[in-house]
Amino acid sequence: MSKLQAPRGTFDVLPDDADAREAVEREARRVLEAAGYRRVETPTFEATELFARGVGEATDIVRKEMFTFEDQGGRSLTLRPEGTAPVCRAYVEHGMHKHAQPVRLWYLSSFYRHEAPQAGRYRQFWQVGAEAIGSDDPAVDAETILLLADLLDALNTHGIRLRISSLGTPETRAAYREELQAYLRAHEERLPREVAERIDLNPLRAFDAAGIEDLMADAPKLLDRLDADDAAHFAEVRRLLDGAGVHYDVDPTLVRGLDYYTRTVFEFESSELGAQSGVGGGGRYDRLVEMIGGPDTPGCGWAAGVERILLAADRPPVAPPPVDLYVAFVRPGDRATAFALAGEARRAGLGAQLELAGRSLKGQLKQADRVGARFVAILGEEGTELRDMESGDQRAVDAGRVVREVIRGREL
Ligand code: AMP
Repeated sequence: MSKLQAPRGTFDVLPDDADAREAVEREARRVLEAAGYRRVETPTFEATELFARGVGEATDIVRKEMFTFEDQGGRSLTLRPEGTAPVCRAYVEHGMHKHAQPVRLWYLSSFYRHEAPQAGRYRQFWQVGAEAIGSDDPAVDAETILLLADLLDALNTHGIRLRISSLGTPETRAAYREELQAYLRAHEERLPREVAERIDLNPLRAFDAAGIEDLMADAPKLLDRLDADDAAHFAEVRRLLDGAGVHYDVDPTLVRGLDYYTRTVFEFESSELGAQSGVGGGGRYDRLVEMIGGPDTPGCGWAAGVERILLAADRPPVAPPPVDLYVAFVRPGDRATAFALAGEARRAGLGAQLELAGRSLKGQLKQADRVGARFVAILGEEGTELRDMESGDQRAVDAGRVVREVIRGREL
């Protein structure tokens, strides 16, 4: 029979990788909870309509990247392709607008997009994300950016560059959109087919297209069309970032692949990564909560890819968990005593492993050495002996005192 493999674009998290990923989770918790964020987890799938309304019908994600299926009751469900719309849905569903604002939430979850797999781009991937919902204060924008900068720094990611911009309000964007569409139509013969075909649907994406950088450098920029409030908001975000020593480039061509952004948008990328250089990004989404049926509520947040962070980061070697005691035995009649001893040792807080493969005594001592055991209890015909693997000393001990002896010996 043919060997089964994980589906295309997915991967197994093996034990060595799991340790590095836990480090990301630990640092995210430390950095975000210090700023008042609390963990949230939403379901793996949601009503398809949440993403159609929240992320936007015209986006690549909704048009072609969603894993959508019907449940037995004929409802259309979708594996979450992103975290902001679900977190906003939870905010509305649980009446969090009644809490002190902004409500600050973080998550570390798996997401699903039907994209062409390549290095750093998968169909199931993990994101750590943070959302601050309920305040339009520019300090929220600056603080979320600072927190992601601090997290990437704490995880020793290399070659990080931050780009920021402002998209203004949907009204400013609508007027600008027409201006940009007129510009693109005037140069239609120079546009790649996929850009030309989407002038009506999503003209902003022309800034992401390869091969027309010159043309787009001369295109009208949204940043020059912001109204006074949005321009002042963006200036304040920049002033706070400057004051906190965060380095960034203002990039008026920065557009993000999701429709819900208003005002501030930002993206962190790493020169350590290849074509998929984005490590994390986000921005403000002042209309999203209302779009999914909640009260008019501003919000701001980001998501960063766990796999991309790890690709861009130093990965210090991780030590396997310590084994304080290895319980060896030869006679099958001693198995129950050995089994109970290993359990007792673990309940006392020790790392304890039991012989599980029927090795000879010599084989067991070798295995104990391989796992780095500090002590080996040898249950034999003459009673129990305790071997100190560091000094090589071996002596008889009372079976009931093994755990106490190991604790004492470990502390010496
Ligand atoms: P987005 O939600 O598209 O803004 O993505 C935020 C971050 O998630 C990106 O900067 C990447 O680090 C990561 N990411 C997005 N899509 C993928 C994917 N298909 N595979 C791996 N990481 C991804």
